[in-house]
Amino acid sequence: MSNRRKFIKSSVYGGLAIGTASISTMACTNQSTPGEKPIVISTWNHGMEANAEAWNVLGSGGKAIDAVEKGVMVTEADPDNATVGIGGFPDRDGNVTLDACIMDENDNCGSVAFLQNFKHPISVARKVMDETPHVMLVGEGARRFAVDQGFKEENLLTPKSEAAWKKWLLNQDYKPKINVENHDTIGMVALDAEGNLSGSCTTSGAAWKMHGRVGDSPIIGAGLFVDNEVGAAVATGLGEFVIKICGAHTIVELMRQGRSPMEACQEAVERIVRKYPNDYQDLQVGFLALNKDGAYGAHAVHTGFNYAVKSKTQDRLIDSQFYTG
Ligand code: ASP
Repeated sequence: MSNRRKFIKSSVYGGLAIGTASISTMACTNQSTPGEKPIVISTWNHGMEANAEAWNVLGSGGKAIDAVEKGVMVTEADPDNATVGIGGFPDRDGNVTLDACIMDENDNCGSVAFLQNFKHPISVARKVMDETPHVMLVGEGARRFAVDQGFKEENLLTPKSEAAWKKWLLNQDYKPKINVENHDTIGMVALDAEGNLSGSCTTSGAAWKMHGRVGDSPIIGAGLFVDNEVGAAVATGLGEFVIKICGAHTIVELMRQGRSPMEACQEAVERIVRKYPNDYQDLQVGFLALNKDGAYGAHAVHTGFNYAVKSKTQDRLIDSQFYTG
């Protein structure tokens, strides 16, 4: 195995750095559901709280784009969440570097990558979308833009995440077991009362990554894609493999061809399994999709991925389907 391959495999393990909380989940359901709107869905346990915030917007007739920004800000602000925003585990040099993107029903989109010292990268991404002629700003340019827009710089390395990093430095060991320790981006997609779709995605990326590494989460088409004619999809898991199959865009295109959200996610997962037979056992990727009718579904490479759903009639956490061979 080449060094590069070895590193990618290593980073899977290194990135799988936090356990899931102990909220009880619904049994795995073979979604797709009959549609409902408004509705919001998001990745992992932390999606429950994020959805509740998004629902404050959606439930009172607000726009999906505002709901998906406000929703994921809850996760970004949680210092106990080691995979998103403040408290996120740093790279191998001790820097917390954040990636985020957002997309609305008119294909407007904004993204930031390798952003440091701002608690709400999703809001900086929204400003990129709303205030610039560009889609993506990275690094120092993104920092200067954020400052110009009035965002405050602050240290995002909490005592807890610093301690975890120092512990990791002792062995620099990349071998934690998949799904014992999950790495958990928040991706959120919503359909509002007007029938418009939007999505957001925000992460601190793989723990102990190389300095400068950017995953799928800020990349429109990989970590997130929205097409208001069809549906929206988000990804979580090892970003390198999501990028390789252009995950979220692939799923939206499959829905355009008539697949249900669950079928589209499943086909994307099977593509990863088929194309990377020597890698898939050691990596997790989960996909989540919502279509224009408000039907949703998910699929993952391995068991352990779950997602949160909120609408007028639903408020629950669901275990995703996964590849069974
Ligand atoms: N997709 C994210 C990344 O690769 C991490 C994750 O969701 O686990 O940066």
